Amino acid sequence: MIRAALAGNPNCGKTTLFNKLTGSSQRVGNWPGVTIDRKEGRIKGADAILVDLPGIYSLSPYSPEEIVSRDFLLDESPDVIVNIVDATNMERNLYLTSQILDVGIPTVVALNMMDAVRKDGGEIDTVKLSSALGCRVVGMSALKGEGIEELIAAITEAAASGKVPEPLRLSEAAEASASRISEVLRGKVPDGQIRWYSVKALERDPLALERTGDLEGEILHIVEEMERETDDDSDSVVASDRYSAVSRAAASSTGKRGASKGRTTSDRIDRIVTDRWLGLPIFAGVMFLVYYISISTIGSWGTDWMNDVFFGEWIIPGMRAWLEGASVDPVLTAFIVDGLIAGFGAVIGFLPQMLVLFVLLVILEDCGYMARIAFVMDRVFRRFGLSGKSFIPVLIGTGCGVPGIMASRTIESERDRRITAMTTTFIPCSAKLPVIALIAGALFGGSALVALASYLVGIAAILMSGIILKKWKSLAGAPSEFIMELPAYHMPGAVTVFRSTLEKTWAFVRKAGTFILLACGLVWFLSTFSWNMVLVEDVNTSMLADMGRALSWMFVPLGWGGDWQFTVGTLTGLLAKENVVGTFGVLFGFSEVSEAGEEIWTMVAAMLTPIAGFSFLLFNLLCAPCFAAIGAMRRELGTWKATGAAVLYQCGLAYAVSLIVFQIGSLAIYGTFGVWTAVSLAVAALLVYLVVSNDPFRMSARRSGEVAC
Ligand code: GDP
Ligand code: MG
Repeated sequence: MIRAALAGNPNCGKTTLFNKLTGSSQRVGNWPGVTIDRKEGRIKGADAILVDLPGIYSLSPYSPEEIVSRDFLLDESPDVIVNIVDATNMERNLYLTSQILDVGIPTVVALNMMDAVRKDGGEIDTVKLSSALGCRVVGMSALKGEGIEELIAAITEAAASGKVPEPLRLSEAAEASASRISEVLRGKVPDGQIRWYSVKALERDPLALERTGDLEGEILHIVEEMERETDDDSDSVVASDRYSAVSRAAASSTGKRGASKGRTTSDRIDRIVTDRWLGLPIFAGVMFLVYYISISTIGSWGTDWMNDVFFGEWIIPGMRAWLEGASVDPVLTAFIVDGLIAGFGAVIGFLPQMLVLFVLLVILEDCGYMARIAFVMDRVFRRFGLSGKSFIPVLIGTGCGVPGIMASRTIESERDRRITAMTTTFIPCSAKLPVIALIAGALFGGSALVALASYLVGIAAILMSGIILKKWKSLAGAPSEFIMELPAYHMPGAVTVFRSTLEKTWAFVRKAGTFILLACGLVWFLSTFSWNMVLVEDVNTSMLADMGRALSWMFVPLGWGGDWQFTVGTLTGLLAKENVVGTFGVLFGFSEVSEAGEEIWTMVAAMLTPIAGFSFLLFNLLCAPCFAAIGAMRRELGTWKATGAAVLYQCGLAYAVSLIVFQIGSLAIYGTFGVWTAVSLAVAALLVYLVVSNDPFRMSARRSGEVAC
């Protein structure tokens, strides 16, 4: 049985090829670098197992993916490496190839996305590329299923011949030092891996040096000699040698010289959408359109129908009549209708809006635009001294914060990773969307601007937190390098869009039908009984009202502490953010009044001014995320202490932002001025100080004095 390893850059079509070769159906994501699990499958029609390695840019130990991949290649020595290369981005992809060729394992290059190259009028001579790289190159398209047979044949052949490729040659100086190092290493590492270890040691690769044991001093001596000779860091020398070797190889196969690869349609679109000045406004415009379609128009018609007709006229009255007709106990009827169904219905009512939104977001992701957004945001993040890599988790976090936080794992720098894990959930996840839609619908006439503002505030909170937190000593350090593939644009596949949308929608429904349902039952119970288990006439005398009131004083300065219901909504939101809406569904939705969905909206509108509603929304978006996300944060941050600090920070920031928005907003709109207005101005000044000052936490003073944290 042949063991083949599939390695390639993120987004080069690895998952698509894996599925084609093995006939399995792994999810095809257009996200760089999030899959870290190892997947295996039998290659169809061949006696071979294919191991899917994580997407990586290099075999240097910068990220967990890279370590996983190189450990596999070095320690488990597969029979063949199938190196998948995105032909539309050949040079960048071949950088990894140049390292794979050093590992001493028979290699086949699967030159993928040839369909896209052809469509742009390009041409790549695989025979020439093959002789330049010294290994078999198969031109193919995983998407179209072209070249799969030939690739399978090449894999079997390479395994049978066992022919190890010739490494790409580096510059004279580097080659000379590498061969001196290999003399030192001879007998200390497996023979086939000598080339790999010598070049990696020459790059001062820490993990490679570690394995050389007591030879490290001798090797570093050779490295330093070369550095003196070339007057450059050895790793830069090797990297630039690799780049020139691969651009020579690429140039020989395209007939073009150097780095130019022609101006494709994708390039032309990218010139505009990733433009330094236009990129951000276009992004904001696209997102506005997305929310306009999903929250304000098409989606909201569906939601109105769900609330007014489906739940309001059919389900709720129908269930009530049926239960009453069957002479079910009135308390049980109330529990089912006013508790479970009302809460569930309040959440599910938003399904049409979510559905439209999911479709639009999946299309944006699949056609390649989301990758451009990350690219555009990278520039913004960088300007604030943060890594653009942090934006990928944020993009994922727009779906759900838990995988978003987990995606922070792919960030090399400890500092960026921790800051990202702490701040990713500021971006509204899909569970927060019903809250946004509710506030927008009840208080702002369903304006898409509320959703857009929520996202912009989320991004602003992330940027601001990054700036503030990186001044804290335990989070200091340099931002990560961010290299990102921009995959060629392509028409979103109907199947992908359908499948992803269905997946997301189903997850939403399943959560509403289980977890949210339970929480709504509990809310109903607590809002229907008093402490001595007597049915209450007035919900204001229930246990829940007492609980809410015990805390709601805290939110008076934010404009929504007067009514305990909002405090309760915020608290139940910690279980899952959909609960905010579910709770309102139980507390003032779907009562006897047949207007159903309208009920929640009119109640909210009667209790809150728009500015107070916006403050409530912001607090719920920014404060501690749900428990599942807090758990994910705990896994990434390592300790409960750090997690607690992160949650405190989030709640503090949420409080500060809501306070400022409500107080200064009220001052501007209604001219109200009081103690809290003054406090909010002071808080705003403090935030500005934390952002602007170089050392607001007196870290330099502490460092010289007693060492803190
Ligand atoms: P991975 O990140 O390497 O696993 O890449 P995926 O398999 O998730 O593919 C990334 C994107 O490239 C998806 O949108 C695929 O549909 C697309 N893709 C994959 N293979 C091809 C191909 O041969 N041609 C074209 N045009 N697109 C492809
Ligand atoms: Mg993938």
